[in-house]
Amino acid sequence: MSDVIKLLPDSVANQIAAGEVIQRPASVIKELVENAVDAGATSIKIIIKDAGRTLIQVVDNGCGMTATDARLSFERHSTSKITQASDLFTLHTMGFRGEALASIAAIAQIDMRTMRHGDSLGTRIVISGSQVESQTPEACAPGTNMMVKNLFFNVPARRKFLKKDAVEFSNILHEFQRLALVNTNVEFSLIHNDIPQAQLLRGSLKQRISELFGKAVERRLIPVETDTSIVRLAGFVGLPEHARKRGALQYMFVNGRNMRHPYFHKAVMQCYDQLIPADEQPDYFLSFTVDPETIDVNIHPTKNEIKFENEQPIWQILSAAIKESLGRFNAVPAINFDVDDMPEIPAFQPDTDARHEIEIDRSYNPFRPSTANRDWEQLYNNFQRERNDALEMQSSLNTAPEDTDSGLDLLPSADMPEATLDLDTLQSSAATLQVKGRYIASPSKAGLLLVDQHRAHLKILYERYLDMYRQGTLTAQRVIFPEILRLSPAQHSIMESITGELSRVGFDLAYLGDTSWSINGVPSVIDSLNPTETIERMIDNVTETGADITAELHERLALSMARSAAVKSGQPLSPGEMDQILSDLTRLPDPTLTPDGLTVMKVIGLDEIGRMFG
Ligand code: ADP
Ligand code: MG
Repeated sequence: MSDVIKLLPDSVANQIAAGEVIQRPASVIKELVENAVDAGATSIKIIIKDAGRTLIQVVDNGCGMTATDARLSFERHSTSKITQASDLFTLHTMGFRGEALASIAAIAQIDMRTMRHGDSLGTRIVISGSQVESQTPEACAPGTNMMVKNLFFNVPARRKFLKKDAVEFSNILHEFQRLALVNTNVEFSLIHNDIPQAQLLRGSLKQRISELFGKAVERRLIPVETDTSIVRLAGFVGLPEHARKRGALQYMFVNGRNMRHPYFHKAVMQCYDQLIPADEQPDYFLSFTVDPETIDVNIHPTKNEIKFENEQPIWQILSAAIKESLGRFNAVPAINFDVDDMPEIPAFQPDTDARHEIEIDRSYNPFRPSTANRDWEQLYNNFQRERNDALEMQSSLNTAPEDTDSGLDLLPSADMPEATLDLDTLQSSAATLQVKGRYIASPSKAGLLLVDQHRAHLKILYERYLDMYRQGTLTAQRVIFPEILRLSPAQHSIMESITGELSRVGFDLAYLGDTSWSINGVPSVIDSLNPTETIERMIDNVTETGADITAELHERLALSMARSAAVKSGQPLSPGEMDQILSDLTRLPDPTLTPDGLTVMKVIGLDEIGRMFG
């Protein structure tokens, strides 16, 4: 019997390898962008056509290649990044397997131009299904310009397997977001079918997050930072009240590389135990820096799954850091800032030098678009001020119980009427105090006014949206980065029935096929709105109430929008914000109840206060 075993030709081996590395257009983008980053690029431009099916082009200003390297780069196992197995443990590059270009060249048509900085002539190389068709010297810009055309042109089964453009594009967007988040020192642009989708400047992680997901996201996040001998951790986690059933933004990076790490994910989730419902998920953006020798990135070809040597200690460090941040930003109800034994909290280091100044912005108005400018320093200042207020309040109460000028004018006066919600008596004074991040307390003529901050703001916004709806002044404001909404079939059918109404209240929606929608614009009144979350909530509302979908839909939409946009319980407010809420509230015809019948405010009458003191 003759021998039957043969060595596979390289082109076939490459096609097989491609199956592992390149599943879809998004995988090509990942590999090419990682190569550009490894080449030291500071600017990366991505141009795609038909969701990557026809063209994926990545243009970088990195180091470029010589003519020989350009040719070699498409050979299997050709890499400039490691030379021996032990290099795997000191990796500072994204790539190292030398597989990506060979794999891509096996299943697409390549047209690459590359030139090293300082050279006067570059190289152009054209490849189709692993066959080099031409290599010529050519004048080109320093860096590398890689075009990948007609992906899977020679693997019809794989090409057929590609999903609709909208779905592939949404995968590309997700990959783009991940790449942009770990490479904040690189300028990115993304163009799809000649339409610019994103233009990101170099900046901090915080800036990147808000460029990618909207300014409003900043308000939902608190910083997490810690530095130990085994790991340096930096990033942000979401405030518990912004946790979501679907679509939470969850990103982990290690040494500038994206990773999936179910174990650390669990560590984060445990910190939110008791704080959020079991079926909700918090946002997080967590960046780990460790000694490269303590991780193994080579356990999967896409290099997303990573093994850590110090998993358990890192779990503990991660968990402690997140809990501390949640506590520090008053996101945990059990932590009490007015008690004496407050834990020592290491100083927070915001990334500007202005950190020693504590500014109180009395003109701050949460309802104007300027809300979007609120930044971490301000959040921190609020925290500091709250703490100081609480301490001050405590000491003034302790040391000067008789001092009626201490800010709270609570003494009963004989001619005061029984407390009612007579609006004239509710004029707020300068003395507003936030209690537990949930209530606004303010002395008023009738006694002590207590207002639930979230319900009050919800009520104000609800009335405002209804007014605007009646006057037809709710208009769409384009979002920089359209969000993709992927719905279940059930949600989708409800969505179809409410799109007319949604566009009347100012949403600009485009149907992408399947059950996906792109949110291209949101009502201009709302800058703190998370569009996907709001729409999903509206759909859930309609599902839960099961009522006639169109009747009073605008009221329900107004309520949902108000719910999403209103300041949350636990959100620190400045005195200016509190004053604004109180004065807006007192202007409403009926400020006492929310649209769904919950108490917005209470007045503890002077008589009642008098009685308390016997
Ligand atoms: P790996 O990234 O794992 O080394 P690739 O197949 O992705 O393997 O790339 C092969 C080699 O081609 C790289 O090691 C690098 O030397 C070179 N290369 C690829 N892309 C670029 C680029 N954009 N700029 C400069 N060199 C590149
Ligand atoms: Mg690579």
